[in-house]
Amino acid sequence: MTPNHGSLLYEGKAKRVFLAEHEQKVFIEFKNSATAFNAVKKAEFEDKGRLNCQISACLFELLETKGIPTHYLGVAGDSWMAARKVEVIPLEVVLRNIAAGSLCKETPIIKGTELSPALLDIYYKDDQLGDPLLTELRLERLGLLTAQQRSEIETIAKNVNNFLKSFFNQIDLILVDFKLEFGIINSGEIVLADEISPDTCRLWDKRISDPKARILDKDRFRQDLDNLLEAYGEVLKRVQGACAKPRNCL
Ligand code: UDP
Repeated sequence: MTPNHGSLLYEGKAKRVFLAEHEQKVFIEFKNSATAFNAVKKAEFEDKGRLNCQISACLFELLETKGIPTHYLGVAGDSWMAARKVEVIPLEVVLRNIAAGSLCKETPIIKGTELSPALLDIYYKDDQLGDPLLTELRLERLGLLTAQQRSEIETIAKNVNNFLKSFFNQIDLILVDFKLEFGIINSGEIVLADEISPDTCRLWDKRISDPKARILDKDRFRQDLDNLLEAYGEVLKRVQGACAKPRNCL
């Protein structure tokens, strides 16, 4: 099912954003494309869009009940979400509970090391520059955020991590790390935007000890492991089992 959307506003690697019937609303289509290593590696996975959309919808609704401001309005079809229109802040805020991925490539920290408190890394979102990791001073120099907005984003990110870490733990998933994006709505308020899905989180199955078999996220694609859709499907099944059916917003 496709909502009655307006023209295409923006197309990214994993989503398309369309205008909706009123100015401050958009429809987001979750695509089946998967990309990794700054889009050097690409593939299509039939049904991935639906899985990510439905997982994200459940997680945004849960976060909303915890008082986290988000762009989410509701689902608008299997792979469609209705959201508030935001001006995207070009930053990727990564929270790490366990060392993996780029952290282990760029530092001597060994994969699997527990990071407590969680490590918060901020990257500049720019494909051409390869999404560079920012220092405190570079972030300040870029002038993208006021000191208050910066602190608000960090507080929201840490609250999201505290909540999601324990939520996933209850459904036998380990939240290794994840990426958040933020936007500014018409009123000037900062809200959580984008998606929270196995494309943007590392999730390990607590019920499995084998280090490859337990991976339920996009690392399956990055590492050429099979059964990506089965893994995402398992995440959706467990998430849906622990939350209400996402509201429809057409
Ligand atoms: N991530 C993402 N988009 C990006 C970069 C990272 O969603 O453009 C997510 C990634 O899936 C992981 C976390 O952020 O859950 C940390 O990624 P990392 O910096 O380790 O980079 P990677 O190893 O994914 O290249």
